Amino acid sequence: MTKAMISSIDARRDDLTRLTQDLIRIPTLNPPGRNYLEICEYLGTRLERQGFRVELVRAHGAPGDSAEFPRWNMIARREGAAPGDCVHFNSHHDVVEVGHGWSRDPFGGEVDNGRVYGRGACDMKGGLAASVIAAETFIATHPGFRGAIEISATADEESGGFGGVAYLARQGRFDPDRVQHVIIPEPLHKDRICLGHRGVWWAEIETKGRIAHGSMPFLGDSAIRHMTAVLEEMERTLFPLLTTKRTDMPVIPEGARQSTLNINSIHGGARQEDDDYTGLPAPVVADRCRIVIDRRFLIEEDLAEVKREVTGLLEKVRAERPEFRYEIRDLFEVAPVMTDRDAPVVRSTAAAIERVLGQAAGYVVSPGTYDQKHIDRIGRLKNCIAYGPGVLDLAHQPDEWVGIDDMADSAAVMAMVLRDLLTDSPA
Ligand SMILES: [Zn+2]
Repeated sequence: MTKAMISSIDARRDDLTRLTQDLIRIPTLNPPGRNYLEICEYLGTRLERQGFRVELVRAHGAPGDSAEFPRWNMIARREGAAPGDCVHFNSHHDVVEVGHGWSRDPFGGEVDNGRVYGRGACDMKGGLAASVIAAETFIATHPGFRGAIEISATADEESGGFGGVAYLARQGRFDPDRVQHVIIPEPLHKDRICLGHRGVWWAEIETKGRIAHGSMPFLGDSAIRHMTAVLEEMERTLFPLLTTKRTDMPVIPEGARQSTLNINSIHGGARQEDDDYTGLPAPVVADRCRIVIDRRFLIEEDLAEVKREVTGLLEKVRAERPEFRYEIRDLFEVAPVMTDRDAPVVRSTAAAIERVLGQAAGYVVSPGTYDQKHIDRIGRLKNCIAYGPGVLDLAHQPDEWVGIDDMADSAAVMAMVLRDLLTDSPA
């Protein structure tokens, strides 16, 4: 049966390649959020022909949604012949900016040596195409299947997913009584199952000072010097502490298998002039200095404790510096997520990988977050993984590509998962 499925997918190889090319040729750049309606209509038309009921949903009022750049999502559902579980494939349709260094047309969908090139090829239009081909192949070969198949193409994953999966989840579309299994075909490699991601806490720390003329700094109070004290304390105590916080989550790459902190930005003192400004900067004592911190935390950690580490550090600096004043503001937080290895979608995908690729599945956790956070928290659905073709390191890079063999193999795995979950035959 596995061989039959692989050869049915193989018969659709050209279709798979063309579909990927077509998707790449619709430049769904985010920001600002271009051509979302076009890509949703393109997919909707195709899936309607396969018997899916298609809805296009605009995320009215979501961040970024406007008359010029409406946040469109496509969600398609195909009912089976009898009641049963629903398997949902969710892909984001937006891509990040092109950037420099390309030797190919980023929206040409060029095919060369078994690869399809273009922005979004691996992240994640190749995965989206693989899931469509998997569903179509499964439906054609198992017309009597039970339950339902859903395919969604959603907006804005690259900017937080608020106009995409979060919006749909708030509408109840990922509620556990409606959808039982979710696969997100992000480029984690065809032989690996991604169980979840680390947590995120972003905060802005501001130190306060008093402005004065730069020639008489003793008349003011430098917010930059106060911030320097904060950074020194971080170097001395916080960064070393974080390296000792290891996790049992199988995070890749290995370096992310611990707590991490990045200082995303630092701003203080006189405003930065434009690049073409030819004058000298003004001599002032900085009355404020701000940093944005990006703390990634582990499933073994508690967010309140993570925050206390930083406020405790700031209080320590205050105790040592008489005029030290600060404020800290939360910007963004996401809880860590890790689906159980015994969850049905995980077991089914692992069995399918073994059958199709002849090797045991690897289990990984992503260092950064993706749309699983909304499915988990808003949708309350735990039976969710990321699984799809492509090499994660190529995401957001110039000359991004996806391998046609990889797409076909992972489409076969996805089709076998459907067979396992929606028929009486094992994967
Ligand atoms: Zn992605």
